[in-house]
Amino acid sequence: MSIFLKRFGVASISARKLAGAATISRVTMPAMLRYMTTAATQTASNPDEPTFLKSVELYYDRAAKLSGVPGGTLSHLRAVDALLRVTFPIELEDGKYEVIEAYRAQHSRHRLPVKGGIRYSEEVDLQEVEALASLMTYKCAVVDVPFGGAKGGIKIDPKKYTVEQLERITRRYTMELCQKKFIGPGIDVPAPDVGTGPREMSWIMDTYRQFNVDDVNAAGCVTGKPLSQGGVRGRTEATGLGVYYGLREFLSYPQVQKRTGLSGKVKDVSVIVQGFGNVGYYAAKFFENNGAKIVGIGERDCSIYDPNGLNVEELQKHYKAHSSFRNFSATSKILEEPTEILEQECDILIPAALERQIGLRNADKIKAKIIGEGANGPVTPAAHEYLEKRGIVVVPDLLLNAGGVTVSYFEWLKNLSHVRFGRMNKKFDESSRRKLLDLVETNAGRELTELERKTIVHGAEEADLIYSGLEDTMIQACQETKQTAELKNVDYRTAAYINAIQKIAVVYKDSGMLFMK
Ligand code: NAD
Repeated sequence: MSIFLKRFGVASISARKLAGAATISRVTMPAMLRYMTTAATQTASNPDEPTFLKSVELYYDRAAKLSGVPGGTLSHLRAVDALLRVTFPIELEDGKYEVIEAYRAQHSRHRLPVKGGIRYSEEVDLQEVEALASLMTYKCAVVDVPFGGAKGGIKIDPKKYTVEQLERITRRYTMELCQKKFIGPGIDVPAPDVGTGPREMSWIMDTYRQFNVDDVNAAGCVTGKPLSQGGVRGRTEATGLGVYYGLREFLSYPQVQKRTGLSGKVKDVSVIVQGFGNVGYYAAKFFENNGAKIVGIGERDCSIYDPNGLNVEELQKHYKAHSSFRNFSATSKILEEPTEILEQECDILIPAALERQIGLRNADKIKAKIIGEGANGPVTPAAHEYLEKRGIVVVPDLLLNAGGVTVSYFEWLKNLSHVRFGRMNKKFDESSRRKLLDLVETNAGRELTELERKTIVHGAEEADLIYSGLEDTMIQACQETKQTAELKNVDYRTAAYINAIQKIAVVYKDSGMLFMK
């Protein structure tokens, strides 16, 4: 296992050079690996389209040129600060050993702690965690969450392991993070991502606690925990809800309505979601709750499409029971090819599964008017450019799926303050409002109905405050992105990157440079 501080600036390495690299030194190996490994889904993109990491770097470089930030700061910000790659064995039930490979990347520590999810997937590799960590830095800046970016991953398919094995793998990984100081409420705070959820976050916190018995803020070492472990109401659905708030905001912009021909009302749109996990399910659910028609959902083995609309709750029950959409209803169509669902008729398409789902192989087949990136990196740079030319509005990942990290920030604040949001002021607020209403009633000469009173008096509970903070954050970030897009005459992705770069550059500048000379 090795800790690699500051990556080396290798721009590209030819296949010949790699083939000849029989003895790779410990320091240069990660730089090479990051360009060798391209495990992300390839079905939609051409082989010569850039890797996920290269794509993030391309998006960054394009925005950097327009940001007005000095070159030195730009190269500092572009580089990943620290990388951890570990391997450890676990013993399986049959007595055999399996060596597990895991990573954590900390992209920018201009603000601490750094923050980002932990992914369990067979596709996890070095370039993926680096790309995701970079995106996290920019994402946090876009929504003004005062963290740097990080990401972790374990290269396993969680479905192949028992719960007991998963617990052992998670705890061992956390132990490695503890030993290398890659976790802690003031250092690095993981969260759920693909293949992980509240259960894994609980195990992580419990393991961290064992190694840090005197840390009174231990609960803040990870977010996305269950409520019983210091989690916050609203975190589970936060990313999907943020996707909904963000797309609702963009729908309301006259420029978007003009470009797409849409009315701007949520109840008039049809939606397709790819990936029926945490982000996809909640995004679909909030669109449905607000009157939109969900016409298609995509999953790994097959997808379901019904132009008359699907019932999200019923579909989820069916999916949980059968692990498939097959035989859900007689009227809906089952599509066998994984990316076929992306090409169906709809107004809004939300890829919420994995990266590189829309590339040059299928960009011309997309019929949606708006693409809302629920997942990280679902559209390749060439496909993005092509979609923009076709007049399709792309609302980018670093803005649209930032609801998760926003509410993770609220959870972290709750953990550090050791008190539930609303606990101190709810009753006081209610009693003040009651007194005010008594006065209003006396002066107006009319009594309010019981329902009117209840609605006005209601003091904010934790969930109310979380939803309100998330909605405000998403609206603000969308407006800032739109303003920069108009000012610089660029697409929304470039605008979001420009905003992020400019905000981070101010922090770099004002904090000065430690040990520069
Ligand atoms: P998840 O594991 O809960 O769900 C992902 C779903 O996508 C799974 O149901 C999986 O079976 C499905 N899937 C995988 N490959 C697919 C394919 N080729 N076609 C169709 N479906 C496929 O993960 P999640 O937390 O919902 O994350 C989804 C995406 O959102 C990821 O890109 C993640 O990085 C991003 N994201 C997640 C969060 C969060 O809070 N969970 C926050 C920001 C961004």
